[in-house]
Amino acid sequence: MGKPRILVIGSSNTDMIMTLDRIPRPGETILGAEFVTAAGGKGANQAVAAARAGGDVRFVARVGRDMFGEQAVARFVEEGINVEHVVRDHTAPSGVALIFLAADGENSIAVAGGANGRLSPADVKKAARAMAGARAVLMQLETPLKTVQAAAEIAARAKVPVLLNPAPARPLPAKLLKLVSILTPNETESELLTGIAVTDKDSAARAAEKLLATGVETVILTLGARGVFVATASTRELVPGFQVKAVDTTGAGDVFNGAFAVALGEGRPLLEAARFANAAAAISVTRLGAQPSAPKRAEIELLLARPSQSARPRARAR
Ligand code: ADP
Repeated sequence: MGKPRILVIGSSNTDMIMTLDRIPRPGETILGAEFVTAAGGKGANQAVAAARAGGDVRFVARVGRDMFGEQAVARFVEEGINVEHVVRDHTAPSGVALIFLAADGENSIAVAGGANGRLSPADVKKAARAMAGARAVLMQLETPLKTVQAAAEIAARAKVPVLLNPAPARPLPAKLLKLVSILTPNETESELLTGIAVTDKDSAARAAEKLLATGVETVILTLGARGVFVATASTRELVPGFQVKAVDTTGAGDVFNGAFAVALGEGRPLLEAARFANAAAAISVTRLGAQPSAPKRAEIELLLARPSQSARPRARAR
């Protein structure tokens, strides 16, 4: 079987990160900061994660006609992502996040979405043919909701499953939720959508129940290091995460979503796809950054082939 085609629709940003002793106060200037740029945006992160996990990825996005946009597109091409539907916007700049990261781990972030905010239903319609040949359409919420809605409608007509990662958290209209095949909120997003705080398996089940009642076919609630709670009309299952030494959990959810879409596109059963994506996301948290930390297929398979760490006794008799 060839690689499953995954259509990712979403945002692309450049993160500009300054690490410094502390966050500057209004009006204050601080010297001695260090500066790095990192590729970001949930859409781009998920597209890269899906490509590395073994997907034939097409990305639908908007960037500006500027250096950041050019660099982003060049990187997508390097990752083997099809960029035919990445539009260069004539008026808006590429999306940028300015991040202050203090020595004590505190951060302060401002995002200028720029061209991401201009990704339109018309852009998505132009990708309708590519969508019809896809095994899954994967979206998030850093681009306009009307565009997400239009894409979900086209995908539903073409009978292509819609995966929606409802991040960043925001309320969602019923007419969108009923077109979603698989919804993948984290605990914060799930609480915003249901009003139920997820603290254990019981509350996860109640939150998932409420989301299923909106017409979503499958709910995958991501629970950080604990893994995911999978719920359908007939399934309620906790798929445990892999035990790893976490150094940076930025983008864990993005890697999970990208890898999950690929596994599903390959026709793996739901719980097996969740385990595959747990493995990919676990590897990503052992490394710095969002996009750079997404693992390649071979690394994911290596972790999956190891005897299950979560099933291993924690303390051994000496
Ligand atoms: P988000 O990054 O969107 O907040 P989560 O924190 O729920 O989402 O993480 C998404 C997935 O990443 C989890 O379901 C799990 O598979 C994996 N993950 C996150 N943190 C860890 C960790 N500390 N150890 C192992 N896996 C992790």
